[in-house]
Amino acid sequence: MNIHEYQARDLFEKFGVAAPRGKMASTPEEAEIAARELGIEKLVVKAQIHAGGRGKGTFKNGYQGGVHAASTPAEVKEIAAKMLGQTLVTHQTGPAGRVVRKVYIAEAAGIEKELYLAILLDRAKSAPVIIASTEGGMDIEAVAAKTPERIFREPIHPLLGIQPYQARKLAHALGLKGQQFSQATKLIQAMYRLFVAEDCSLVEVNPLVVTKEGNVLALDAKFNFDDNALYRHAEVVALRDETEEDAREVEASKYGLNYIGLDGNIACLVNGAGLAMATMDNIKYFGGEPANFLDVGGSATKEAVAAAFKIILSDKQVEGILVNIFGGIMRCDIIAEGIIAAVQETKLPVPLVVRLEGSNVEIGKKLILESNLPVISADSLADGAQKIVAAVKEGKAA
Ligand code: GDP
Ligand code: MN
Repeated sequence: MNIHEYQARDLFEKFGVAAPRGKMASTPEEAEIAARELGIEKLVVKAQIHAGGRGKGTFKNGYQGGVHAASTPAEVKEIAAKMLGQTLVTHQTGPAGRVVRKVYIAEAAGIEKELYLAILLDRAKSAPVIIASTEGGMDIEAVAAKTPERIFREPIHPLLGIQPYQARKLAHALGLKGQQFSQATKLIQAMYRLFVAEDCSLVEVNPLVVTKEGNVLALDAKFNFDDNALYRHAEVVALRDETEEDAREVEASKYGLNYIGLDGNIACLVNGAGLAMATMDNIKYFGGEPANFLDVGGSATKEAVAAAFKIILSDKQVEGILVNIFGGIMRCDIIAEGIIAAVQETKLPVPLVVRLEGSNVEIGKKLILESNLPVISADSLADGAQKIVAAVKEGKAA
């Protein structure tokens, strides 16, 4: 799960990570009031979307950049009016871009130096790793590719936590001295405490800046939270902005379904992640393109299966559906009931192939047969994949 920059700033404040002051606004009027309340002359207005590269982004209305300097509340209002409700395209949003629904009005820092700092999980080391670089403000992937020696990595022992000497090593790698050195060691340790306490999988500050006054501040913030730990962070879940997420994936998560939308035209509904992957492989092998990954899990109810069906059909690209269930914990009759309920409700606008195997398979097959619905049944995964690819081709030819 991701959060917005203005929300990240609140977490920084809570944990003592130094950052410029700011306020969020969702209308130009609110933006003007926020600027007045901040009472600062040098401000920045920043578009809030769950994607980076805003500074160099372009709005679809032609307005350049999602980060602008302003010096009066009136100017802040004017800039906010150009951003709010508009679609911002950056190298991270893809060509569709993201609609800006909120802006962040912050104290503008006079920048002396832009640095890079991030904490993430290194799965190979099974430990968090802190990454620091003197090449901040730009695309860190490009720095890693062209000048890897300018990226410094410090793994942290997951049980011992960050040691003061490690924070000093990182501050040194950032080329900092004196007051900035001690500010940076404090900031790095506070950021690590935040990373652990909130079960983050990524906290990235790009840029971390040295200001003209000589202070070290986190100017930007990108967070990723471990979804598996969200159950113990109600306060983090409350920060979720569903308008930033794929509507189908949001709906699926309400039913505990693992759904990921893809670009093809053959939808699949499967139990188990491994079987879902194999099903997608088979669809491709027989010349089709999967429209999604969907694992309904082992304990899906009839309602969840019906919901899964509707989510699949809400994708206008879908021209056929393959249901592939290997009933172990999941019983085939439950799947059959869910399919029948959903098909009766949606009138099934596309061909449907069903392959059932395992627990209660006979009851499941009987239920589908007796429902008199236009379901094509298959005897194996390969058979099912071939049948749905053929049915979609026929549907197109007709
Ligand atoms: P991103 O482009 O989405 O990563 O957004 P950032 O928050 O990193 O802002 C992009 C760039 O705008 C930064 O690298 C800075 O160069 C500039 N910027 C952002 N905030 C400020 C600020 O307070 N003062 C100044 N002078 N520049 C800023
Ligand atoms: Mn940035």
